[in-house]
Amino acid sequence: MTTAPSTRPSTRPTGTPHPVALDPIAPEAVEPEAGEPEAGEPDRVEAELARFPVLAEVPGLEAALEAARRIDRLTARLIEELMTLQEHELAERATGVALEQWLAIVGRRTGADRRMLLTAGDTLRRLPSLRDAFLVDGTVSWAQTRAVVLRVHRLPRHLDDAVDHQLARAIAAGLDTDPDALVHRVGWIALELDPSEPSEAQRRAEDREFLALQPRLDGSGGRVFGDFGPVGFATLDAALSGPSAAGSGPTRDGFGRRPDEDRSRASADATGRRRAARLLELCEGAVPASGGTTDDGAGRPQLLVRVDLSTLLDRDQLPAELLTTLTGGRMWASAQTVRDLIAARGADLRSVILDDTGAVVGVGRSQRLAPGWLRDALLALHDTCSAPGCRTAARVCDADHAHPWHPVAGADAPPGRTDVDELAPLCRTDNGTKERDGWRATQHPDGSRTWHHPRTGLTTRTVPARWRPPPRPDITERATAPP
Ligand SMILES: [Zn+2]
Repeated sequence: MTTAPSTRPSTRPTGTPHPVALDPIAPEAVEPEAGEPEAGEPDRVEAELARFPVLAEVPGLEAALEAARRIDRLTARLIEELMTLQEHELAERATGVALEQWLAIVGRRTGADRRMLLTAGDTLRRLPSLRDAFLVDGTVSWAQTRAVVLRVHRLPRHLDDAVDHQLARAIAAGLDTDPDALVHRVGWIALELDPSEPSEAQRRAEDREFLALQPRLDGSGGRVFGDFGPVGFATLDAALSGPSAAGSGPTRDGFGRRPDEDRSRASADATGRRRAARLLELCEGAVPASGGTTDDGAGRPQLLVRVDLSTLLDRDQLPAELLTTLTGGRMWASAQTVRDLIAARGADLRSVILDDTGAVVGVGRSQRLAPGWLRDALLALHDTCSAPGCRTAARVCDADHAHPWHPVAGADAPPGRTDVDELAPLCRTDNGTKERDGWRATQHPDGSRTWHHPRTGLTTRTVPARWRPPPRPDITERATAPP
């Protein structure tokens, strides 16, 4: 190779002492034990460490710190040489092989590392203050330089002078501070000089907003994840984290101490559980039901559950299915969960009830008019009006709720549900007189109705056309039966 090894980078001001030994790197230069500065060269790293006599008592620490600082100097040298080579295309002209190839094949730099080094060289050319602080003075470390380069290298070139001026002030003012402080300050410099950048980023983030509900294939629930712009994200944080989240971040024992990982994980888990519970509370309380299927068009979200009648009646423990709008269409829920849901949510829970042949026998929901298929189911069970002694054909009857849909003032009966075990055909005449005359109807799971007239004490029972005595007497008793 006949490159020009004596070519020094144009970046070094004349008269400035070399920050590191520039001639072939002696292996001991990176050895922790190496303590001898090269002859004739003041060793900055040595001088820096000498400010802390206590390090002599912990040789391992001194060695580690020395290595860290020497890596900085070596990286500075590497970048300095790359800048020169790049500027004059020395490698390619002399060897026919591109600089990047040398860096990859012999230098063992990965693609990301090569890009970082070359981008750093390019940015240092644009920003003399940073170049001098890193390459010449060594006051800014490679870690800081890399972070600053990543933050500013995409800024428009016409801002270079202004960025450099601000950087010079920040470097001059912040040499003794936390190394992150310079990086943080550079973030603000970039924002101040190019204020369109954050609003662009915000707009991009808002365009990307989404919330994904990803059901697990086994029907055991699913994952929720999303992406939000700053306002949406802050709103979610305020709504879901709440005041109780204060201080729930990683637990720290003090500056520079590593957080206790077990405690941090437990704390993060607890925070996550709180957020999940809060999200559900909010959904239960405030969101208008989609589809407007409730009477007032708003209210708690409607859950739709498909359940076997035998499970509802506590004869079976078959799991029920919560029907969703997502892939797969359903989640499993245990029999007990569904019974609890029905008890807790009442009419908010739409339930599709199946008999032991899989046929639909009922739907419970906060909807007063029985849907068409439910009328069909009633017709399959009843020939006639269900009032005592009435022979009006079921086909011309209304579907009647045994319990009045709108609770009667003063009555302690629960409001009606639209379920087969609550419904029976009733002709218009009897429908009009049932409540007016003071009859109380109680419907049983087998479709039979007990009619009671409290004023007279009369009680009678009507049964559907296909009624059979139940195989087990105990199953005629259920929660909706009168006490
Ligand atoms: Zn009738």
